[in-house]
Amino acid sequence: MNIVQCTFCKKPFASLGGRACPACLEQIDKDFITVRDYIYEHKHSNIDIIARETEVSKQIIMHLLKEGRLIIDSPDGDGLLVCEMCKKPINTGRLCKDCMGKVASSMDKNVTDNKKPEPKPEEPNIKGSAKIGN
Ligand SMILES: [Zn+2]
Ligand SMILES: [Zn+2]
Repeated sequence: MNIVQCTFCKKPFASLGGRACPACLEQIDKDFITVRDYIYEHKHSNIDIIARETEVSKQIIMHLLKEGRLIIDSPDGDGLLVCEMCKKPINTGRLCKDCMGKVASSMDKNVTDNKKPEPKPEEPNIKGSAKIGN
């Protein structure tokens, strides 16, 4: 277990791998529902309006978008998020569909590439010991 600083409230806490402390995680879950409901009713909103209307911090909204829990319903995601590989605007997650496809197929490829060739059965050393016939 590591002591890390919470990304949101900056307090140190014992992390099991996450970057947010338990109190913030709980808050994020509540905020998620608030923002999700807001987006559901106000489809073509942008993050400034969402943050103002829901009183949820932009940082948390961005976090939820990057985690893919929220999707901003506009074709280019208001330019808030860009694909981490090709920098194309996306509206949720970290990668665009194209790059996700590429990553998925390169992972498949790596799996096959890394497959070790079947070990050849040891050639029996027949030199000098082979008897033909009897
Ligand atoms: Zn926190
Ligand atoms: Zn991409």
